[in-house]
Amino acid sequence: MSPDDYTPHSGDSRFTVEHYDLRIDYRVATNRLDGVAVVRGRILRPTKTIALDLAGLRATKVLGGTGRIGFTQTDRKLKITLGREFAAGDPFELTVSYGGAPRPRRTRWGTLGWEELEDGAIVASQPIGAPSWFPCNDLPGDKASYRFAITTDPGYMVAAAEPVSTSTKGGRTTWVFERTAPTPTYLATVQIGRYVSRGMDLAGVPGQVLHPAALGDRVQADLAPLPQMMAVFTEAFGPYPLPSYRVVVTADDLEIPLEAQGIGVFGANHIDGHGSLERLIAHELAHQWFGNSVGVGRWQDIWLNEGFACYAEWIWSERSGRHTAHAKALGHWAALAAEPQDLVLSDPGPDLMFDDRVYKRGALLLHALRLTVGDDAFFRILREWVARYGGATATTTDFRLLAASVAGRRLEAFFGAWLDATALPPLPSAPAEDPAPVTQALNVTARG
Ligand SMILES: [Zn+2]
Repeated sequence: MSPDDYTPHSGDSRFTVEHYDLRIDYRVATNRLDGVAVVRGRILRPTKTIALDLAGLRATKVLGGTGRIGFTQTDRKLKITLGREFAAGDPFELTVSYGGAPRPRRTRWGTLGWEELEDGAIVASQPIGAPSWFPCNDLPGDKASYRFAITTDPGYMVAAAEPVSTSTKGGRTTWVFERTAPTPTYLATVQIGRYVSRGMDLAGVPGQVLHPAALGDRVQADLAPLPQMMAVFTEAFGPYPLPSYRVVVTADDLEIPLEAQGIGVFGANHIDGHGSLERLIAHELAHQWFGNSVGVGRWQDIWLNEGFACYAEWIWSERSGRHTAHAKALGHWAALAAEPQDLVLSDPGPDLMFDDRVYKRGALLLHALRLTVGDDAFFRILREWVARYGGATATTTDFRLLAASVAGRRLEAFFGAWLDATALPPLPSAPAEDPAPVTQALNVTARG
């Protein structure tokens, strides 16, 4: 039985994964993927079988502790016979050989997962696309570490996590990466394209941009604010949670940009050289704190990812000297008030979990909280949220409790109206002056 009501066919609560070691050979021209996945974890309930999520690729062999073990495969599950009863707490290690022509899964949220580009590939998994490229326990709360060894054709560049090494054999290059920060399956990624790369100092955090050479000028122009964004968010939310940040810009247009662990992915259409979609660059960067570091344990709490990332856009607008967060909030409140009032932020349901109203109402809740408790307490709440739950998962209840505790006041009625009722609450009145930045030093010129 799946532990997540929003994705009832995903995951298996009988075990947890601690590490994925993925060796993948990918041929771009023919879209052929051959993989060996070593999955290490721990059994949570006594069982003789477990099921990994795998969709559209065929397993050919599974090795357990004692050699080859039995398995059956359906269109979405790899059911594995462990050979004996495992007790709660027992470690396990499985090695799955698999392959095929990877393609995105068709889901109620659109097509998700491994996707061929015109000349390369991307992974866009949220929420259930990961099984399109590796066998996994596809639950947002089951975070693990990763090692990726991706072998592909000459002429391509690969991004997946922190680079370890590259080596070439028989004309094909193997790119090795490691991700030690706890990462859910939907944020694991591989990006392959004919890219050039450029390093960037992001306010002390090593950055890298991968993009088609032809888009160099547009990329340079639109990513120019990234160092200052990093400085602003580090001040507002606490230290950047990973060793580095990468941006990948594809040659293809993409429907939406997306966040992966340590990587923001944008289509050529999002990087027009005029900064038209600067808010989205801020949004994806903010997910590294909200969603990727502090994760959701169940999709029901998705506003904790999207409401926070959306509010980060408004913080960036304010700190970069454009519209204040309050002006943004007033505009979005009016727009949302004109929309149907039939959504419960704390439980929007699977069909509405990525509805724009979840994003905007979540951001408005945070602004209303800021107006209610004041800037000082509000930013202490955000920083304490990341400090306490970074690298792990948290729930809406955790946020309600933490906010009340940091602010030192009762907030049940406030949260009840914003989170559990459908009607859009009014925004509290603004303070007499514009909300002040956390420190004046943030309104300075870009660093780096
Ligand atoms: Zn988002």
